[in-house]
Order: sequence, then structure tokens, then C-alpha cells
Amino acid sequence: MPLVRRTVTLDGGIVKNPGNYDVPAGTPIADLVEASGGYKGEPGKVIMGGPMMGIAVDRTSASILKINNAILMFDKAEAEIPLESACIRCARCVMSCPMRLMPTALDSASREHDIDSLREYNVMDCIECGCCSFICPAKRYLVQSIRDGKAAFRAALAAEKAKEAARK
Ligand code: SF4
Ligand code: SF4
Repeated sequence: MPLVRRTVTLDGGIVKNPGNYDVPAGTPIADLVEASGGYKGEPGKVIMGGPMMGIAVDRTSASILKINNAILMFDKAEAEIPLESACIRCARCVMSCPMRLMPTALDSASREHDIDSLREYNVMDCIECGCCSFICPAKRYLVQSIRDGKAAFRAALAAEKAKEAARK
């Protein structure tokens, strides 16, 4: 039997009836919310997945995927992203990283497009768990920055390979 249904946790301050719902894969998120009782007010942000690793999606067009286990919905105040400030070098991000990386160094390297440092600090080992961003007292956008760094690193690798292939 293929996986055609999914038990999804619908939660967040804006949802009238949070809970676990058994839905067919492909159900539009809007239909799930409507069937559950709707919103309490004006929705601000919808996260597909958990609070640490979930991604923001469009609540009007996104659907439940067979890998989904949670949909989180926040009002505008809850969804507000705090402003980041300068790193105070407290090292909490380093201590929280399950991959033993240096998020603060990766953040700097990503923002400076420093491919050598991204390589040196093993940017591709980041599993994007979000622990470093969560713990950071300066509210640095570490995961987003490291994600950008990974994309830049991948692009640099691809360019290196293309150059090598052209030389042969
Ligand atoms: S937790 Fe935040 S403030 Fe502390 S070292 Fe890491 S990036 Fe800097
Ligand atoms: S997001 Fe990446 S760098 Fe940050 S704690 Fe998780 S694995 Fe470490």
C-alpha cells in the first residue's frame, strides 16, 4: 500500500482547533485549516515542518506532502522576525552545534563570500538544524546565512569542475 495519507499536526496561535489530523497527501493546507475550524484572526506566517527546521510556505497554494508531519501557523506578531545585531562572540552557537561546526565563523565567511573559509570550516556539514540561530542572543540569521554559504560553495565547486573539464 503506497503512502497516500498522512497524520499532520496543525498548531500555532492562530489556529482555532489545533490537533492531529489524518489527511490525504496532496490536501491543500487551506482546506485542512477550513475543515479544522479555520483561523482565529489574520494569519501571518505558515511553516511546513517543525519550528526549527520547517520552511515558510504560501498558505493559499501549498499542499500537504507525504513527508509533512506538521503545519505551524502564526499571527503577524508571532511571525515577526527579530532584528539581528552584531555578534558578541559568546560562542553559544558553537557549543550548541550538533555537528561541532563554528556557526559564527561560517556566518562571516558566507556573508563575505569567502569560499576558502567556507571550505576550511566545512560548510557542507551543516545539517540546518537551527540550533545556532535559536540560541544566539544577538539574533543573528545564522542558518539563512549558512544556507547562502552552502549555495555559494556548491556554485564555486561546480565552476571549479567546469574549468577542470575545459582544461582536459
Ligand atoms: S551565539 Fe550569536 S552572538 Fe554568540 S558567538 Fe554565536 S553568532 Fe555570535
Ligand atoms: S544549523 Fe548548522 S551550523 Fe547551526 S547548529 Fe545546526 S548544524 Fe550547526
